[in-house]
Parts: sequence; structure tokens; C-alpha cells
Amino acid sequence: PEWTGVRVRNTFFSFFEERGHTVVPSSSVVPHNDPTLLFTNAGMNQFKPIFLGTIANTDDLAKLKRAADSQKCIRAGGKHNDLDDVGKDSYHHTFFEMLGNWSFGDYFKKEAIEWSWELLTKVYGLDPTRLYVTYFEGNPELNLEPDLEAKELWKSAPVVPCSEIHYDKVGGRNAAHLVNADDPLVVEVWNNVFMQFDRQEDKSLKPLPAKHIDTGMGYERLVSALQNKDSNYATDIFTPLFNKIQEVTGARPYTDKYGKDDVDGIDTAYRVVADHIRLLTFAISDGAAPNNEGRGYVVRRVLRRGVRYARKYFNAEIGSFFSQILPALVEQMGEQFPEIVKKQQDVKELLDEEEEAFSRTLDRGEKQFEKYAAEALGNGSKKLSGADVWRLYDTFGFPEDLTKLMAEERGLSMDEKEIAEAREKAREASKAVKESSQTFAKLNVHQLAELKDQLQLPPPDDEPKF
Ligand code: ATP
Ligand code: MG
Ligand code: MG
Ligand code: MG
Repeated sequence: PEWTGVRVRNTFFSFFEERGHTVVPSSSVVPHNDPTLLFTNAGMNQFKPIFLGTIANTDDLAKLKRAADSQKCIRAGGKHNDLDDVGKDSYHHTFFEMLGNWSFGDYFKKEAIEWSWELLTKVYGLDPTRLYVTYFEGNPELNLEPDLEAKELWKSAPVVPCSEIHYDKVGGRNAAHLVNADDPLVVEVWNNVFMQFDRQEDKSLKPLPAKHIDTGMGYERLVSALQNKDSNYATDIFTPLFNKIQEVTGARPYTDKYGKDDVDGIDTAYRVVADHIRLLTFAISDGAAPNNEGRGYVVRRVLRRGVRYARKYFNAEIGSFFSQILPALVEQMGEQFPEIVKKQQDVKELLDEEEEAFSRTLDRGEKQFEKYAAEALGNGSKKLSGADVWRLYDTFGFPEDLTKLMAEERGLSMDEKEIAEAREKAREASKAVKESSQTFAKLNVHQLAELKDQLQLPPPDDEPKF
């Protein structure tokens, strides 16, 4: 294609470089300085200390007035979670790149709006009649006025006003009513944020000493618009991954079909696997190894989700499936993100280890399932008991949808009410355990206080929080 993914990214950088911006590297997808955040989910994350005025003078970023970059983002847990859309829609990924330009107390709305328009229509050459923009219409509850300034600025461009930019992939029609309507052919491409107020505790708005610009553009969405594709997955960002998946599994080629049109479910599985290998590789490279809590648990769940699709739709053998796709991703994205080249071997080892462990869980669960199924068929009930279904999940870690699938294959029914009862019973039992351990924890606080007395420690500033 004329606008290869690589060219799109580099053009973004040079456009803002020519306008006085420093192109900075993406920050890690594991936010090291922000415990409130599961994963980096927007370009602005690494600049938050600048906006809040809490950045250290020694920080390299502190000197910047204007910056641009492509930020690695993950939205698969916490406040932003697009995981359930992945496979199903054409424009949400769990891992994606967010292109951004920033002004820290330097230029403001006028330049930001004019440049975004110039870049999209003059440089990238997108058809202006297919672009729709929105402006902030105010919020009386929060005492916020409509952003008439943005409205006026946008008006000087030949469009309807706003701070989000949407692109209509069909064209030649008025698609204004489709903006924000979840239509896959009218996509939000770019979000411009104008920071000018600081909300006070009493909800009043105090103008900031300096005004800032924060923008975020979905790289995969932009590339798909420029390559004239209905879907992000039909671009050269995903093709090398699909080719590799095909080579490894021997599946039919990818055809970019969705929902009912994806008759055999194979296209959906292609999207899930290609999306998930991206998340897994970048998360693990940045230090988020799969485990049982927090972000490690998100990584584990994403891997298991991918493995189940690969098993079911590609008949793939589990144990080293993802690591066979890995080289195609490293080849494609390693130049922009050298960390995945450096960490390739570690990523491979962790993926294999995690997959093998999951494969053992599946094997064990399947054996157990066979036992329960034989019992049910033996006593002529033709029904898998709710307690058995629950035990497969709870004790053996066997996914419920696999149980369902296997039960169907053997003509065994499952009773949702019985399963719910078993689940409820288990919950009550674990509640009782929790309550008794809370008593224990309280006891410890007490003992701790006593111990402090004995050691003659100064009294604590605050009441202990537990
Ligand atoms: P949407 O409404 O489509 O979910 P958003 O409003 O949640 O997007 P923002 O938080 O405004 O997204 O992020 C800035 C830009 O990042 C969006 O305009 C979009 O182009 C892109 N983007 C957001 N989420 C995703 C995702 N899951 N996959 C790919 N691109 C995304
Ligand atoms: Mg969203
Ligand atoms: Mg949105
Ligand atoms: Mg948005």
C-alpha cells in the first residue's frame, strides 16, 4: 500500500517535529510510577506529572514544551477494558498504539485544531467530507460551559465542530448521526483534549496557570482509513501475523468476516490470536509476567483466552503455540520497539511455560470430565450434575464453556439452576472462611499495638488502616 503502517507512523513524527515537537520514546506498558493504573492506557499517562506540576526537575521530560510519540497502550482490565470486543469488532484491540502530540503550557486550541486538520487532510490526504468533528457541549451539573471557541475554530475548517475526530469509511453521505453510534464504518480516530481548568473540591473550576494540549490518535484506525479498509485487521499491521498463523496451523486464509458472516469462526480466531500475541509480547517484555494477581492475572487470562481459540478453531497443539507466532511480530515491530527484540527469548520461555501449565490443567480437567460423564451416562441420567460442573471449574480450573462444549458432544445436558446452586454453596463456604480470618487479622492489630508499646515506639501519625 502507498501508506504502509511504517510510513504513517514516521509521517506523524516528522509532521510534529517540523512544528517544534521532540519525538520521545513510548513509556512502558507497565506504569512504574502510578499504582492506580493497571496498564498504560493512553499517551498522556507518562506526562501526568507534568500536567499535575509534580514532575522532578531532573526528569528529562521536565524540559519539554512540545512532545510527540507513539505510546504502547493496553486496555484489557481495570477502568478501560476492551477485551470482550476483541475478535468481534474491527477497531478495538487489547494492545494498540496511540499517536499523540502535546503542549505543556505552550500552544493551545488554535494550533492543535489547525494542525490535526492539516495533517489528516493535507498530509495524509483523507477526504475532508468524510471527517466529522465534535466539540464539548457543556455540562451544567459540573458548571461547565460549552466549548464555543473550539466550535468556532472548527467552523473555519469545512466541517461540523467538536474535539473528537471521526472518519466515515463509506463516504458520500451525511454520517453525522452515526458518530458515537457504534457503527464500525464510522470510527473515532483522534481525540483532542484541551486542558484549561482544575476542578476544585467544591466542584468549581479554577483556570490552570498554564493550558495544555493532550491528543491521542488510534494508529491502527488511522492506518486502516489510509489503506481504504473497513477493518484495522485488513491492514499491513496484521497481515504478517495472519500469514504466520496460517503457516503454523494450516488454516484457511483470513477473509475479514465478522459475526454471522464468519461462518466457521476462523476469522474471529485469527483476530483473537493476532491481537493477543501483541498484548502478551509487549506486556511480558515490559515486565508483566503471567501470574495470579493484578496485571499478571490479566496477562494469564489473555493467554488462556487465546489458547482456547487456537485449540478450538485451529486444532492447534498447546505448549508452544504463541511462541511460534512471536517471530513474525518481532520482525514487524522490532524496529520501532527494540525492547521486544531484546526480550524475545525471555518472552518465548515465559509463553511456553505458561502454555504448558495451562495445557496440563486442560488435560487434567478433561480426564475428570470423562469420569463424571461416564458416571452420568452409566446411571442413565443423561445429565451432568451441577456439583460436577462446578467442581471441574473450581477445583480443576477447567473453563466452564469447555465443559459445556464437551457435554453437548456427548449428548449430556447441564442444569443452569443446579450449577448456580453449587456456585452459591461454594461462595457461602468461602465467606465463612474469610470472616474467621478477619477475626484473626484484628487480633494481629491488637498484638502489634502491644508490641509497639513494649518497644516504646512513638505513637503512629494515623490510626492503623486495615
Ligand atoms: P472508543 O470510543 O472507540 O472506544 P475511546 O474514546 O475509548 O475510543 P480514547 O480514550 O479517546 O478512546 O483514546 C484515544 C484514541 O485511541 C481513540 O480516538 C481511538 O482512535 C484509539 N483507541 C481507543 N481505544 C482503542 C482500542 N481498544 N483499540 C484501538 N484503538 C483504540
Ligand atoms: Mg473506548
Ligand atoms: Mg470514544
Ligand atoms: Mg475518545
